[in-house]
Amino acid sequence: MTNYDLANLIFPNVKDTSYYEELYPKRNLKEGAMVTRFAPSPTGFVHIGSLYTSFSNITLANQTGGVVFLRIEDTDQKREVENGIEGIIKDFENLNIHFDEDPIKGGQYGPYIQSERRDIYQSYAKKLISEGKAYPCFATEEELKSLREMQELNKERIGYYGNWAKYRNLKVDEAIAKIKNNEPYIIRLKSMGDFNNKIVLDDCIKGKIEMPENDMDIVIIKSDGLPTYHFAHAVDDHLMHTTHVIRGDEWVSSYPIHKQLFEVLGFEEPRYAHLAPLTIKEGTTVRKLSKRKDKESAISFYHKLGVPNEVIKLYVATINNSNFEEWYINNPDKTIEDYQFTFDKMPIGGSLFDLEKLMSISKVYFSKLSADDLYNRTLEYTKEYDQEFYDLIKDDPVYLTSLLNIERNIERPRMDISSLSDVKKEFWYMFDPLFDKVDKPYQDIKYDYDVAFIKDYFLNIYCEDDNEEQWFDKIKAFASQKGFAINRKDYKEDPTKYLGTIADFCSIIRVMLTTSNMSPNMYDLLKIYGKDRLLKRIDCFLASL
Ligand code: GLU
Repeated sequence: MTNYDLANLIFPNVKDTSYYEELYPKRNLKEGAMVTRFAPSPTGFVHIGSLYTSFSNITLANQTGGVVFLRIEDTDQKREVENGIEGIIKDFENLNIHFDEDPIKGGQYGPYIQSERRDIYQSYAKKLISEGKAYPCFATEEELKSLREMQELNKERIGYYGNWAKYRNLKVDEAIAKIKNNEPYIIRLKSMGDFNNKIVLDDCIKGKIEMPENDMDIVIIKSDGLPTYHFAHAVDDHLMHTTHVIRGDEWVSSYPIHKQLFEVLGFEEPRYAHLAPLTIKEGTTVRKLSKRKDKESAISFYHKLGVPNEVIKLYVATINNSNFEEWYINNPDKTIEDYQFTFDKMPIGGSLFDLEKLMSISKVYFSKLSADDLYNRTLEYTKEYDQEFYDLIKDDPVYLTSLLNIERNIERPRMDISSLSDVKKEFWYMFDPLFDKVDKPYQDIKYDYDVAFIKDYFLNIYCEDDNEEQWFDKIKAFASQKGFAINRKDYKEDPTKYLGTIADFCSIIRVMLTTSNMSPNMYDLLKIYGKDRLLKRIDCFLASL
């Protein structure tokens, strides 16, 4: 009996590898085009970390005229999540992120779900067995446990390798007999590596990393007939013609296994680029951003807040390439697609995830939108997340748009909106039903005189038809007459002569009308209010004193 007989007994019905080699020919792409992939397990949703990895794969493929595909790695069926695949695909759709090939769209190199590629892996495993490069291993749980204990006792490296690997030299006949006797087994690589040899990973991001050669007889096909991550990675990325494996750096230590698998299978090795993780501060320590623990790692968190996808992508681009932010500031009219991402600008160590930074990018983003655009987005957002506000704005686009237009189309636009939920927070007081229903949270500002006289200004002097200059002249004249200093210098010279400055006077009006001292341009606001409503607001304030 030969290795071939053994292989045939284990995998009687699989096709020869030559079939797959022909089925998946080399891709016809121009020189330098990168073929990349995003290969999540079916966890059900896309989080910031996976968006970061997929972003890196997508941008590099797109900008080199290459191909990027989505491959679902579901060979660990213990980790299966209900609707795990659909969830991921839907999230990417919502994020407006598209792969050239994916499980839904398909493509010439599919299937793109690993569990549907079982025969393919088995074909290559069969080849390795028949060449004597892989073998069935019959070790039981107990055997593996006692092996481990022996190694611990002898202070040896833990694992299934070399002389410890009990079944690696089992005679073919014996193996066949065991299989015929229905003894359970898995398939292991017969590693020819030597732990004392050094190999080098020439990582596109991290540079050269030296590691010991793999000598472990790692599992390639599990007892359920599905491959391990390692084996599937080698077979898939070979047949799908991946040129660059861009993945999380938790895989760096597996590189010796992967290098060896590519060698024994006779495949050309792809380039590797290992991305440093996104991290977060917890007390005094820094840890990996967790999709389970950290709410800000879920994309849905941003959607609920009303932070647009483009902003999330801009933030991801900012951490992905150290030059991006500066470039974007200097090229405000360009988009992410115009920027050339390169490996040498990707961070080598973990990048601290900074929600504040993301929100400040969002602020800039919103400040550049037209008021109409912002209105439409607010409408769409509130329809899903804030029915009350939606009902207030849906039939009167002009009103909210005019509010959103205040200090917008100017060189340094107002930066008050960092998410669509901020629109209501910024302008709630301009909506009577919202204003009427709350206990007025007037900001506490300092003055020690009766402010009721301010109503006179609105009753007798304020004129809706005045232009901004006339308006300001009048307000200054009124304030001055009532004892406010028009310029700071006068006030500083002798504060006792005044009630305050014109700025103090305007602060009171702001608080009266908006409850806060941080309102948008008052002239515009007054016009949008209209005189009657202004007076009502002032009465309301005075009543609250
Ligand atoms: N399925 C692996 C993971 O979830 C993919 C790693 C890779 O990109 O090769 O991390």
